[in-house]
Amino acid sequence: MSTKDYLEKDYYKVLGVPKTATQDEIKKSYRKLARKYHPDANRGDAESEEKFKEISEAYDVLSDEKHRKEYDEARSLFGGARRPGGGAQGGFGFDLGDLFGGTTGGTTGTGERIGDLFGGLFGGGRRGTTTRRPRRGTDVESEVTLTFSEALEGKTVPLRLTSEAACPTCRGTGAKTGTVPRVCPRCEGTGQESRNAGGFALSEPCRECHGRGLVVDDPCLTCHGSGRAQSTRTIQARIPAGVADGQRIRLKAKGAPGENGGPSGDLYVAVHVTGHKVFGRSGDNLTVTVPVTFPEATLGAEIKAPVLGGQPVTLRIPEGTPNGRTFRVRGKGATRRDGTKGDLLVTVEVQVPQKVDETTREALEKLRASTNGDDLRSELLRMAREG
Ligand SMILES: [Zn+2]
Ligand SMILES: [Zn+2]
Repeated sequence: MSTKDYLEKDYYKVLGVPKTATQDEIKKSYRKLARKYHPDANRGDAESEEKFKEISEAYDVLSDEKHRKEYDEARSLFGGARRPGGGAQGGFGFDLGDLFGGTTGGTTGTGERIGDLFGGLFGGGRRGTTTRRPRRGTDVESEVTLTFSEALEGKTVPLRLTSEAACPTCRGTGAKTGTVPRVCPRCEGTGQESRNAGGFALSEPCRECHGRGLVVDDPCLTCHGSGRAQSTRTIQARIPAGVADGQRIRLKAKGAPGENGGPSGDLYVAVHVTGHKVFGRSGDNLTVTVPVTFPEATLGAEIKAPVLGGQPVTLRIPEGTPNGRTFRVRGKGATRRDGTKGDLLVTVEVQVPQKVDETTREALEKLRASTNGDDLRSELLRMAREG
């Protein structure tokens, strides 16, 4: 983030508190806003997400007295918000040239150096502190393939997850077995160091320990001193009943563990569902195509239709049922989230026999003779001629 961004942002306004707010007031307001705009409560809402980031950023700075003071000073100096009559910032009675000329000696044009100065101050300083602040674990992606029936009934599946965790050899210290990291002598363990910049002290991450506050003399052979490792774990994930192919399931707090007491991330499971030989899915409904004979469709019949995982149901086909008509059997479909069930949609398909025996042939010849009088296609042909 550039210095300009920092100076243009009004963190007090973002958190809705006055400049004189106490830490308690800041925390209270932050919690209220964070709850309102938290991504968990506003899934997929980009505006809320942006707002949440803004609030977090503002709180990061204002909740830390040191950063807050620096921010206030920076704004009063460069943000055009110089307070009248001294007050807390009264000590800075000089211009920018004085301030920076003294530290870097002779360079003209202060813009770039202001950027450097505050880039280090805020960007670096914040990086330093976040290593010790509770951090939410990352979200983890995984996938699973279920059979048609498993998807309908729901299933608990083992998932192997790989995520970053503390190195098991050194338990995250980064130091070789038998050795321990020592407190950084440069920053005395704070991870921060002060630099005198022409009249006021700037805080930035310690150059010796890069903000960790600890120095490793003999690095761990497993993680080469980083303290981090890939960890693989297997968890049991419950895939809810009625899941559809291509759906993404979110399992709260099953992602990577948080750091420094932070909450775990979430696990997202992409679900693939294989097809079924007999049944199809249409939302909560199951579909099936059942063959019927010409006489059954013409005269009406009672036919048996298959039910997934249960006894077939008997279905009454009325007289004169056209090919492709769909009948609904209530409550024999997929289980919904609330435990109720969708329907079974039975589509009849009139079959044309490929081979007929003598008896059937005779019967069909009789039928042909009796339906010969009226040409089925005469109306169609007439309409086609008329255009
Ligand atoms: Zn240090
Ligand atoms: Zn290690």
